[in-house]
Amino acid sequence: MNSQEAQPEWDAIVVGGSAAGLSAALMLGRARRRVLVIDAGSPRNRFAEHMHGALGNEGTSPAELVQRGRAEAAEYGVEVASGTVLEVAERPRGIRVKLEDGSTYEARSLIVATGITDVLPEIPGLAERWGVSVLHCPYCHGWEVADRRLGVLATAPASLHQAQMVRQWSENVTLFSAGLGTLDPETTARLRSRGIEIVGSEVTEIFGEGTDISGVRTAEGDVELDAIFTAGTPRPHDGFLAGLDLERDELPFGMGSFLKVDPTGKTSHPRVWAIGNVVNPMANVPMVIGAGAFTGGAANGFLVEEDFDLAVEADRD
Ligand SMILES: Cc1cc2nc3c(=O)[nH]c(=O)nc-3n(C[C@H](O)[C@H](O)[C@H](O)COP(=O)(O)OP(=O)(O)OC[C@H]3O[C@@H](n4cnc5c(N)ncnc54)[C@H](O)[C@@H]3O)c2cc1C
Repeated sequence: MNSQEAQPEWDAIVVGGSAAGLSAALMLGRARRRVLVIDAGSPRNRFAEHMHGALGNEGTSPAELVQRGRAEAAEYGVEVASGTVLEVAERPRGIRVKLEDGSTYEARSLIVATGITDVLPEIPGLAERWGVSVLHCPYCHGWEVADRRLGVLATAPASLHQAQMVRQWSENVTLFSAGLGTLDPETTARLRSRGIEIVGSEVTEIFGEGTDISGVRTAEGDVELDAIFTAGTPRPHDGFLAGLDLERDELPFGMGSFLKVDPTGKTSHPRVWAIGNVVNPMANVPMVIGAGAFTGGAANGFLVEEDFDLAVEADRD
């Protein structure tokens, strides 16, 4: 492609239109870029009624945040299409995305903000209570269950830290430790020093009325609880990028393989950035909004440079 040929239709395509993606789109829209957001409409926190720990958005529902974000970005000309991106391919000076319905779009830059799936422990009664009485993060939902009878269902070594952390919200904490194997005496003493109960046998069921929880069943008997914390295994939504063969990194705490990005969110491809949970599964809503704002600016910076490169080339032609 030389400088005389047509540019792709969009300056930027943002795949994933939740907190991270809309924040990047807002920055790019305000930078007068032609931006298309493509969103499958399933943000990770859709199971929770309210968001917390999110300054300026305390108690807002996840759906309302997306709705407001879309309206704010639309003020600057950002367009949103519903759909699922299935694959991406490199084009001369751009990227092409293909959706599930067969439609294709081309852009000069691509921002991936597609989040993760929390792969949950397969225990009857767990999945249907996720985000309501089975909780993932005490910073998001600990205040609402403070001083209640809280459980921590261990799924990985990091669950030990989660149990210690949950103790900050209640004196009544039980760790269900089967997922950790046998605890050594030092760890057991440390947990018990602040009154954490330890139940070593497997949790076989979570029960209660509707989405509330009243307890869990184990071989040692039932334990009454008001809420239980656990961690799913994060699975990033990045399979559609396989065609670009991007570099990956192994994240700590056994979280698995994620796209490798620099501090601006740039991947190993010069036109592709990735932000939010898809690269940082620990990030909450304010963190991914910040990441989106930063990366929106970084992607615009790349486009600014390219605009000048093209102008210089055109002058030479
Ligand atoms: C139950 C629960 C409650 C939570 N509560 C809080 C809270 O109170 N406060 C807080 O700060 N954080 C909370 N979080 C964390 C919060 O969900 C994340 O920080 C946030 O959703 C990350 O935003 P994101 O934009 O990176 O990803 P997401 O919000 O997950 O958005 C990704 C978007 O990309 C779309 N998508 C995925 N694949 C494709 C594709 N191929 N093509 C097109 N679109 C695609 C998805 O449908 C989705 O709309 C909670 C998490 C959970 C699990």
